[in-house]
Amino acid sequence: MLLDDMVERGLPEETRMMRDVTRKFVNEHVIPFIRQNWQQEWSMTPEGRLPSRILEVADEIGIRTLGVPEEFGGTPIDPKTEVQTFAVISEEISRGDCGLSDKMVQIWKVSVLLRNLAPRHLQERWFPRIVKDPTFLLAHCLTEPRGASDRWLPYNVPEAAMNTKAVLKGDQWVINGRKQFISNGYDAKLYVVYANTNPKVGMLQGTSSFLVPRDTPGLTVQRCNETLGGRFMNNGEIVFEDMAVPKDHLLAEGDALSRAGVYFRPGKIIQGSKNLGVGVAAFEKTADYVQNYAQGGRILIKHQACAMRLADMATRICTVRGLLREAAAAVDAGSPDADVLCNMVKLHASEAVLEVCRHAMELHGGNGTMLDFGIEKLYRDASMFLHMDGTVDVTKFKIVKALFPDTAGRYAGPET
Ligand SMILES: Cc1cc2nc3c(=O)[nH]c(=O)nc-3n(C[C@H](O)[C@H](O)[C@H](O)COP(=O)(O)OP(=O)(O)OC[C@H]3O[C@@H](n4cnc5c(N)ncnc54)[C@H](O)[C@@H]3O)c2cc1C
Repeated sequence: MLLDDMVERGLPEETRMMRDVTRKFVNEHVIPFIRQNWQQEWSMTPEGRLPSRILEVADEIGIRTLGVPEEFGGTPIDPKTEVQTFAVISEEISRGDCGLSDKMVQIWKVSVLLRNLAPRHLQERWFPRIVKDPTFLLAHCLTEPRGASDRWLPYNVPEAAMNTKAVLKGDQWVINGRKQFISNGYDAKLYVVYANTNPKVGMLQGTSSFLVPRDTPGLTVQRCNETLGGRFMNNGEIVFEDMAVPKDHLLAEGDALSRAGVYFRPGKIIQGSKNLGVGVAAFEKTADYVQNYAQGGRILIKHQACAMRLADMATRICTVRGLLREAAAAVDAGSPDADVLCNMVKLHASEAVLEVCRHAMELHGGNGTMLDFGIEKLYRDASMFLHMDGTVDVTKFKIVKALFPDTAGRYAGPET
């Protein structure tokens, strides 16, 4: 398809080859699985949504453990273009299904975090296990029942601190609290958990992060959330009751939120690309439909109003992809504008892809709302991204705060 030319342009050979292998995997394994199962999305058990064969094949072709250092068995990627590669592969998997993509991209994102923050002995212990077991999933636990947006902004005041607390007792951190809405939360084998370790200071100084194996006593996976879209990823809620974590499982003390930038920057590119893949799938299905389905004696694409919607869809896909390219290159280069570009990606990919899916719904008429055609699924999948990686409105604040640090960037207390 012509829109693929943009993906190809300037793509390093290594990434292009990985993209081709991923596309074959998606066409041969993911799409058939989804076609067979999307009508069972509402009746499947969480365990049924963990297709081990798909994870095994993803593992065989090397896309499951992107982000794991090569020395521990991860797939080698050129560090100069690593995040750009993540973007291309994430989009491609999500063309098949964004929930399956979520399962895998959490492994990449958390692996990048561990690579940067985990002490050597933890890397030596955990990376080989992640590599060895194709069903090994990872999760990143920040959100709590109250105040997720406060953490994204962040409001750096003690009142906005995390409710999950960690207290050092002897050689163990004892953690109490609850995390909700966590991607892979239901079936991960290893969690990164954020907790307040100093209630007297703002969260940028008083939040720490810990590596927590699933079988740690005191950790309970309380439920699998039933979500509107992205249903092949099991989103979970986790409770910690006097959970004792060895002292050496600390990843960052006090400044965990600032240091999580190594996770959030690539993470926003990966997630934005994932959502783009949903838009691409909606476009491809719609392009096919309007060239075959006739009304008023001609196929839909020959009705100008329908054709204009297709032009709009294609343009939005290209603008998201273009911004993603720019932002991914900025993250790879460590540019100072990387943060703000990543937030623009989150904002634009949320709104533009949902609009692409809305056009797909419109052009499919009543068929768009029926389970048989899969368009309603894509619409639901795209809507999930509005509230992933922060909300759209809070992301707008972050953009304006970054652009105007001396005015909008200051905590919104009383004017002096
Ligand atoms: C599918 C899915 C997967 C997720 N995965 C993870 C994960 O893996 N790990 C994790 O930690 N979290 C995860 N999350 C949580 C996600 O990051 C939060 O849901 C998101 O940040 C929004 O937080 P919230 O739901 O608490 O909304 P709230 O913060 O309660 O916001 C509610 C509304 O209030 C608005 N609002 C909030 N504060 C302000 C303000 N100061 N000014 C104006 N408006 C404001 C928001 O924009 C929004 O419209 C996931 C969420 C979803 C839906």
